[in-house]
Amino acid sequence: MIPIYIDASALKKTYCDRAFQQTVIKGRVPKEYREPFSFGNATHLYAKLRARNASFKDAMAEAVTYYNEHRGVEPDKLISVFTTYNPNIFGAFPAGMDAIACTEKFFKIPYREVTTSDGKVYIVFLCGTIDRIELHQDFDALCLIDFKTARNWDAHAVYQDYKLSVQFMFYYWVFRRYGNQILPEPLHKYLQNNRLFVCPSPIMISHKPPKWLKGMPISYDHLLGEMDILVEASVEAILSLASLEGLATPNGMISDQCSKCDFWPVCHSPLHSDGLAKEELLDNLYDKKLYDPENF
Ligand code: SF4
Repeated sequence: MIPIYIDASALKKTYCDRAFQQTVIKGRVPKEYREPFSFGNATHLYAKLRARNASFKDAMAEAVTYYNEHRGVEPDKLISVFTTYNPNIFGAFPAGMDAIACTEKFFKIPYREVTTSDGKVYIVFLCGTIDRIELHQDFDALCLIDFKTARNWDAHAVYQDYKLSVQFMFYYWVFRRYGNQILPEPLHKYLQNNRLFVCPSPIMISHKPPKWLKGMPISYDHLLGEMDILVEASVEAILSLASLEGLATPNGMISDQCSKCDFWPVCHSPLHSDGLAKEELLDNLYDKKLYDPENF
């Protein structure tokens, strides 16, 4: 049985068959580690440790060590982010769930099993990690908090971006459709009647000093039907790409999606215009490992 893991990052790649194929099916990741990624991970680690009652000193030491080991170049900036962490902006954890159960909550839901015409059996999982689960006291609702390090100055623009985020829609959809498999029984009442929200928590790292914010909770109740269709279509696309020989079509070029794509050097290098050379370039620039969100 061949596992295929779909998470929000995978869904974000549906703009281009090739980006989708190389990331989700082939598991290609750039060999060169990116500093913003490591900065974001260190910040998430720090927030998790503080929520789990680690002291400022211990949480900072662990997160800075992680950052330095992953090509971190701005430890001072990272520490200034840590010093402005403000636990008072967050709500309480739901009754019966402790800080460990409510922080970095990973889910992995078996979604569909398919046997293709060549006899291969695929099992598709829906995966993701919720940074923090807490109660929203005003609405008596469950809130799925997502931290994001934001380099933009304008908090309003950052919130607007989040509102349209496929990641947020995906989390909301998974919890509405499959939350009973993720949360303990006493919390299932929140999954009905629109008592579930996703809430962005941007960390404005360009501000001096940096600021930890929490935006208004967002409901995607009105988009549940569209998300059913999007996920199903994405699964169909994955299954057809899984058995494709050679490189998938670079259709992200048509919709002008290439500038922020990891595979820009492959698709746009003038020296590599044929399929074989591009495969060689892929081997040179990217590692290949199973795309498994549990190990990110
Ligand atoms: S660079 Fe463009 S065409 Fe190539 S994989 Fe990325 S989005 Fe697709």
